[in-house]
Amino acid sequence: MRRIFIIFPLALSLILGIFIIYFNFKNLNIFKKDQENKITFLEQQLDKNYRRNFPVHLPILLYHYIENVTDERDTIRKSLNVSPFIFDSQIRLLLEKGFTIITLKELINYYNGQSSLPDKPIILSFDDGYRDFYTDVFPILQKYHVPAVLYVTSGFVDLTHNYLTMSQLKTLAKSNLVEIGAHGVNHLNLNYSDPVSINSEIFQSKANLEQFIGKPVEHFAYPMGEYNQNVINLIKKAGYLSAATTDMGVTQSYGQIFELTRIRPGSSQEEYFLSLLK
Ligand SMILES: [Zn+2]
Repeated sequence: MRRIFIIFPLALSLILGIFIIYFNFKNLNIFKKDQENKITFLEQQLDKNYRRNFPVHLPILLYHYIENVTDERDTIRKSLNVSPFIFDSQIRLLLEKGFTIITLKELINYYNGQSSLPDKPIILSFDDGYRDFYTDVFPILQKYHVPAVLYVTSGFVDLTHNYLTMSQLKTLAKSNLVEIGAHGVNHLNLNYSDPVSINSEIFQSKANLEQFIGKPVEHFAYPMGEYNQNVINLIKKAGYLSAATTDMGVTQSYGQIFELTRIRPGSSQEEYFLSLLK
């Protein structure tokens, strides 16, 4: 009987001891994890601040038509056009020279400290939403498995045979190779439109495209490259994360994320094409 009086408290304190050690160990781990998270968070913040303060060398190529123009009288189309053969050779050259074609999402992630940029990053962008993007550009993107951003004028979808059909737009948006951005509803010059129209071009084009493709539309390209500070403010208010101009340049910076610069490679090839990216 007496033995019980000794064994019982001994056993109890042993069990208690094990519990105390276990919980301390667990808490220590939680504490360590917490500290690690805090350090990662601080590193990310520092990295984010650094990234947001220095420009990056990131050419954004601007294209319109990519097709074999058959109508010799269509001088506007001819002047804006690059043949599919030349576009294909430009992409091949970029890849051969070690460029990595990235998305706008990757640029935003970079500025948010969520991922880094590859060596020699470059973005392909296409304005207006022409049908040849589907028939001529998309197969080339698939062939090389490279992404592009397509800025679509929402009111032009299904309008004439010149523009994308709704079903083509949906297919492109689903592909994961094409980021759909907005380019107004009616392609109005935002520097010379009335306030109601400016609002509609910015807010309605986003809402329309989001409804068409069932995905957020977070990037905008100014129709005809025209914008001003009031337009930038509305772009921010509408919830866009970036906006592209037609201002020439090969570097981007966080402070000018709503004034992304671009270059028009046209039909340039080989050394001349590469020299435009420097
Ligand atoms: Zn345009």
